[in-house]
Amino acid sequence: MTKEKTEVLIVGYGLAGSLLAHRLEEAGMDFRVVSDSTQPGASEVAGGLINPLMFRKLRAARGVAQVWPLLNEAYGRLEALYRLQFLHWKDSVKLLNEQELLEWERGRSKDFGVFLGELKADGKLPGLRSSAGWGRYSGSGYLDVAPWLEVSGARLRSKNWLIDAKVEPQDLSRKNNNWLWKGGHLKARKIVFCEGAAVRSNPWLQGVPWTPNKGELLEFVAPGLAEDFIWRDELFVLPLGENRFRAGATYKRETLDAVPSVTGRQWLEERLRTMLTVGFEVVEHRAGVRPAVRDRMPVVGALPGQEEVYVLNGMGSRGVFWAPYCADLLVRSWNKGEICIPKSMQVQRFFRG
Ligand SMILES: Cc1cc2nc3c(=O)[nH]c(=O)nc-3n(C[C@H](O)[C@H](O)[C@H](O)COP(=O)(O)OP(=O)(O)OC[C@H]3O[C@@H](n4cnc5c(N)ncnc54)[C@H](O)[C@@H]3O)c2cc1C
Repeated sequence: MTKEKTEVLIVGYGLAGSLLAHRLEEAGMDFRVVSDSTQPGASEVAGGLINPLMFRKLRAARGVAQVWPLLNEAYGRLEALYRLQFLHWKDSVKLLNEQELLEWERGRSKDFGVFLGELKADGKLPGLRSSAGWGRYSGSGYLDVAPWLEVSGARLRSKNWLIDAKVEPQDLSRKNNNWLWKGGHLKARKIVFCEGAAVRSNPWLQGVPWTPNKGELLEFVAPGLAEDFIWRDELFVLPLGENRFRAGATYKRETLDAVPSVTGRQWLEERLRTMLTVGFEVVEHRAGVRPAVRDRMPVVGALPGQEEVYVLNGMGSRGVFWAPYCADLLVRSWNKGEICIPKSMQVQRFFRG
């Protein structure tokens, strides 16, 4: 291995690491990513959905006002670079009970009302269970996450900017204001940990109350189920074309492995049978661990008491939404020499005395 010097060493190539790498490239900053391809992260299995609403009590999802308007531009720049479409906007339809129908009607006058469309009582939808009604909303869509990682990863590898390896803490040392990996094979001014749920074994980040959770999803074929919308009930059902759909997801704190489980599949299939009136055949079952923290906000910025150690993590179940925004915040905080990361996202919030 030759000795290399770079500005930023990124550890981990999931949504967070990949969006940060591309933001650095756009900003003209040199970087290398080291990622352990033998340990697939959450991004490889993600549903890829963007959803501007929260349903339990109907409201806008956190960060929608700041982040949602930037998504088109952020992903659009990457689509232009790769000449491929990764982001797809698609309206959603949520099945509603009587109470929810009233809430959705009232929601029209709220800040998230711009997303709310047609609302129908007693409306039957082909292939879906009957409900008191349904509501259509905009602002939703999905990112082709696995294809994005594959295509962008291949380009970065071809430039020797992405290295397949695991970064072990004992292989990192500090000398003359630089971080050295493996005794200096790679020398970097800054190190950014984008390790997803594997962050739990990172000795620098033990002070953060990580609350990772396991998720499972299915892909299935269901001729007869309409593909016009993303369907929302207890599960999301995302049409992928040619009668293929993706549905999820489970949330479990107890087991934190990335192994598809029999109970997870049963749970998902039962809910699908309740939601759909058409038959379906499962063709894929995937699992992963979402990186999250107690307050369910991203974890971004400089680690207190450490020189040039940063983190970009904690995207929870909303990596597609948060990653481009948070990567941009981090790069801007370096370039402008000022802290522009909101307090609610700063990693420092867990280290106050
Ligand atoms: C079932 C499921 C469904 C989901 N659905 C959605 C959805 O619909 N929409 C949405 O926005 N989000 C969804 N998510 C959440 C989303 O997947 C995560 O928010 C996002 O992928 C986190 O990205 P990340 O880059 O932080 O972590 P990861 O994707 O986990 O990437 C971390 C990477 O770092 C590497 N790594 C870790 N430690 C080291 C080390 N020491 N050295 C080298 N490399 C290392 C890992 O191998 C991995 O490649 C879902 C998650 C799951 C599990």
